[in-house]
Amino acid sequence: RTKEMGKNSFQFYFPELNQWSMQSLILENKLHQALEREEFVLLYQPQLNLQTGTFDGMEALVCWRHPDRETVSPSDFIPLAEETGLIEPIGEWILRTACWQNMEWQKAGLPPQKVAVNISARQFNQLNIAELVGQVLRETGMEPRWLSIEITESAIMQDVQKTRVTLRRLQEMGVTITIDDFGTGYSSLSYLKQFPIQTLKIDKSFIDDLPEGSDDRGITAAIIAMGHTLGMLVIAEGVENEAQLDFLKGRGCDKVQGYLYSPPLLAENLAEMLARGSEASISAG
Ligand code: C2E
Ligand code: MG
Ligand code: MG
Ligand code: MG
Repeated sequence: RTKEMGKNSFQFYFPELNQWSMQSLILENKLHQALEREEFVLLYQPQLNLQTGTFDGMEALVCWRHPDRETVSPSDFIPLAEETGLIEPIGEWILRTACWQNMEWQKAGLPPQKVAVNISARQFNQLNIAELVGQVLRETGMEPRWLSIEITESAIMQDVQKTRVTLRRLQEMGVTITIDDFGTGYSSLSYLKQFPIQTLKIDKSFIDDLPEGSDDRGITAAIIAMGHTLGMLVIAEGVENEAQLDFLKGRGCDKVQGYLYSPPLLAENLAEMLARGSEASISAG
């Protein structure tokens, strides 16, 4: 009987597994091609400084413009890219493109703005990311102060010894570090205090229900206060409405990013914003 059950489950199990692995194999191939065919595009989402009410920095977000499909969002391919290791060449392309683009704007005489680049856990822990950053900065000629690296709590907690060395090297270079999706991971306060982190980015999930949701109000206010105590800047992501903005302003949050201010933009549209400079504020600013 057990043998028969084993046989049955064998038959049921494998077709699914095969289908799944076939699909990820196909996707993996397409990701390879996408890199060669330059199908990845970087969008730039501007950030709003709440003190000045003006445009202050941006985040680079990758997407995949598949020729015969709708644009694929990063959540649909970054995980597989991480698993297969393809994140390393893709991530290198992202970093280089973000710095190159920033320099293009600067060379065109537009006012410089800092660009934040997302670095996945694998890129952070398996590559010598500090070396790569140094190399890309030299190649593109971009000053380190215009680059920020966004990493998650889980990425920095994987190997704290290594993190300490990597972050210190980035800091010495003059690159700033942002902790992304803050509040959703398991970083410990003692490490946050030790690591050279300049910015905490409050995860969107805490912002969604503001200003209602007493837990989220409390958590958000606590993250802002804690970040400031540690001498960090605090930014909120996923800000979609005025009520959220008002709450965050009231609690002294430094910056916001979200659809209320601007969606992620194509490079040409971001350039227009740079050109408008400090006029690019919103009424609430
Ligand atoms: P993230 O770094 O937390 O990026 C913020 C995500 O929220 C982006 O989604 C952005 O488009 C979206 N977003 C911004 N404002 C709003 C808003 O007001 N409302 C809503 N509902 N969403 C908003 P996206 O571009 O789909 O990226 C998802 C995640 O994929 C990113 O989360 C990041 O973890 C990863 N990712 C994106 N670009 C890169 C990249 O270049 N490299 C790596 N390693 N990961 C990336
Ligand atoms: Mg990010
Ligand atoms: Mg984030
Ligand atoms: Mg997020």
